[in-house]
Amino acid sequence: MNMLHRCIEKNKANNSHAREVIFRVLLETQECLSVAQICDIIKVDYPKRISVNTVYRHLNLFVACDLVIVLQNEDKKAHYCIADENNKVFTLCPQCGVIEKENSQAKAFFTLLEHTKTLEYITLHKRCKVCEGLSKN
Ligand SMILES: [Zn+2]
Repeated sequence: MNMLHRCIEKNKANNSHAREVIFRVLLETQECLSVAQICDIIKVDYPKRISVNTVYRHLNLFVACDLVIVLQNEDKKAHYCIADENNKVFTLCPQCGVIEKENSQAKAFFTLLEHTKTLEYITLHKRCKVCEGLSKN
């Protein structure tokens, strides 16, 4: 949360509860979420309505501050997740389009490329656990 507050100060944005709620949603998931998914989660924990535009506005602020990265799936739909220095590898399921953080497998691969400082993240096309499971049955 400290990084979030620094970001807010830097941008002279007024602090709002909505922003913390949105940031927390991203902190607490391993998935990269679309704006629609973020709105759905917020609805449960935060009964006061947050408009889609507000969610977009806050997400753009996070991205501008390098706190959050935005990835697109094959439908060119934007997905958001917390930027993590130690984990810049993501998997994109070609079947259902879900984008997830890759936990271990790809880390060694990324280490090989680490000297490429301009690299921001990698996405691997790999079926997610759900789709993988379905194909086995
Ligand atoms: Zn899938």
